[in-house]
Amino acid sequence: MGQRWLGKTPSLYELYPACPELFVHTGGTLRDVHETADLTKAQGMGVVMSLNRGDQHERLKVLAREHRRLTGGLEHVLFDANRYSGANRRSGSAPLDGRWIDAQRRAGTRMALTDSPYLPSGDRDALRSILGQAQGLGGDVLVALPVHLNWLTRDADVLATAINEAGIPVALMLEHAKDPLGLQSAVIGLVRVLTRATVSVSLLRSDVSVVGAIAWGASMGAVGTESSLRHFVPAKQGGGGGHWPSISAFVPSSMAYRTLDTINAAIAADPDHPERWVCRCDVCAGATLDVIHSNVQAYRHSLLAIAELADHALAGLWDFERSLAWSSACRHAHTINDEVHADTGMKWRPPAYLGAWLKAAQMADIKLTI
Ligand SMILES: [Zn+2]
Repeated sequence: MGQRWLGKTPSLYELYPACPELFVHTGGTLRDVHETADLTKAQGMGVVMSLNRGDQHERLKVLAREHRRLTGGLEHVLFDANRYSGANRRSGSAPLDGRWIDAQRRAGTRMALTDSPYLPSGDRDALRSILGQAQGLGGDVLVALPVHLNWLTRDADVLATAINEAGIPVALMLEHAKDPLGLQSAVIGLVRVLTRATVSVSLLRSDVSVVGAIAWGASMGAVGTESSLRHFVPAKQGGGGGHWPSISAFVPSSMAYRTLDTINAAIAADPDHPERWVCRCDVCAGATLDVIHSNVQAYRHSLLAIAELADHALAGLWDFERSLAWSSACRHAHTINDEVHADTGMKWRPPAYLGAWLKAAQMADIKLTI
């Protein structure tokens, strides 16, 4: 089972040869390195590390050294300077820092991710500025595009055209208070960008929807280890801190993140359907999901379950097989959510992203048949 992501059914526009399709998006502490190293090594996943403010060059060196010590290399590692989020974020046409690119090269990464500023709604000058600067930084540069969601919901064609004209690989990150791809218009815009792109487009700092994005042509996608790394929140909502969210885990049968309390209550209320709650990942080992107790167990289980889902949805060699398989998975999970609600009496609403991806597939099909 090891290395199953390496070289398998590559995107039409691979980021680089043998790039894994699935990455883990984690924080920038040594603890994050330790918690993800064996997982990524065993599963052949890549890692994106989002760094906090401070001396990022020194931090990068420390993290790179430790990751290399634990896994033997840095080939599938990206470092996200994370300048686009939180209080005092950089925005608009702020310059990219070539020294940040050099620091990643010196550390030994395969690709260097730009320290891009936040891209506000409709700011075409800023988009041109970021892409233009990145063109001069070298062929091993991946352009971070942390965008206001309007770039997908309203300006997807402008974005796709600009990316294609620049002709360099880009990695999208999406701003939203909750799940950006729970919005139909955002998924429709993302599918439009992916199907129009003639260069490598990836999706970082996201959720299970990365599987859908890859199915529709993204080169790779990075699933966050915690909710703050599954999107980035608007600046006004990002500065506070202090709120510690309750632990959630991915429920494979309904493709929904639920809190551990909710999962435990549902398992107790649904004794006739163990198949909805049993998981064969390394953490659960064939038991029901109520064996998950800690944050680390929750995200390891969630990532392994999403990898398993991706294994099925992305098994097809052709893009239409993959997008159909993803739609089929979304439709099936939507039904299971309704059934859990009916059988347990609990509120078990299907996650909005399931319907959003189904609608986007419908729209794409209509366009293809016109
Ligand atoms: Zn599990």
